[in-house]
Amino acid sequence: MKIKNIFEENKPTLSFEVFPPSRDGNIEELYRVISELAELKPDFFSVTYGAGGSTREKTVEIASKIRNDFGRETLAHLTCVQATGTDILQELGKLEKTGIENILALRGDPPKENKTFVKTEGGFEYASELVEFIKLNGDFSIGVAGYPEVHPEAPDMEHDIVNLKKKIDAGADFIITQMFFDNEDFYRFRDNTISAGIHVPIIPGIFPIFNYRQISRIVSLCGAKIPPKLHDKLSRVNDRSEEVEKYGIEHAIRQSEDLLKNGVSGLHFYSMNRSRHVMRITQELFKKII
Ligand code: FAD
Repeated sequence: MKIKNIFEENKPTLSFEVFPPSRDGNIEELYRVISELAELKPDFFSVTYGAGGSTREKTVEIASKIRNDFGRETLAHLTCVQATGTDILQELGKLEKTGIENILALRGDPPKENKTFVKTEGGFEYASELVEFIKLNGDFSIGVAGYPEVHPEAPDMEHDIVNLKKKIDAGADFIITQMFFDNEDFYRFRDNTISAGIHVPIIPGIFPIFNYRQISRIVSLCGAKIPPKLHDKLSRVNDRSEEVEKYGIEHAIRQSEDLLKNGVSGLHFYSMNRSRHVMRITQELFKKII
């Protein structure tokens, strides 16, 4: 089923992001996690696409298994990194062959050794160009990324939203956001997108913190701010992993409840290929709201 049609049901969607493990040995563990998460009956799983190498091939494999063996809808991520139009056509062919109907179209981050993104010859500079290409060459429902705290390369939110609108005008059906920890950032972003004439569903991305060391990584990779109150709480228990996870779960539940009360189109959890904390959060939400 196309994700754009799932939104027509007009109830908040539930979805989980997973990523292909870097070593083949971990794939059975990932499928165990997916089978547990599938019991929560999410509307879809999304499967990330690596910067290069063997994990890329795993995206289609995992997405297709989720659909065919676990019976849940999937959203396969696809990026412009080191890809020509011909490469993308091949990927679209593979996705079509396995029955995958949904793509999250991304520019992608530059490989670790490069500081800035460099367009591959015969490829694409921005995600909007990828959206346009997919639209012309297949029958997919297309999602794109949005940034409540502004994409790190954009000069400000205004420019970033002008660029986001280019992706929607090119044919994207929905937006999934980068993680954020203060809902006010999301609401500001949502108001600005509406003012800019963007009217597709925007699904907030929630990252439940379960490890203190993740915090500096999160901040340096995507620039998300950790609210001072949450940061203080976590730093007081930094070496006691169970307590860090407990505070992370509590914060994610509070965030999710507030987002649902404020009419979001769905909740997308960055699972980090773990089931326990995401299951606790969603079960708590099912009890209280859903
Ligand atoms: P774009 O929309 O192309 O934007 C990139 C930058 O260019 C922004 O600053 C934007 O404002 C600017 N821009 C866009 N169009 C124009 C224009 N026409 N003129 C001037 N400036 C412009 N990365 C992966 O490698 N694999 C994944 O699986 C993956 N999954 C993700 C899932 C989600 C939900 C999110 C939020 C991010 C994900 N990423 C992934 C990271 C993403 O690839 C990076 O954030 C990347 O730096 C930008 O990708 P984009 O699609 O948002 O790019």
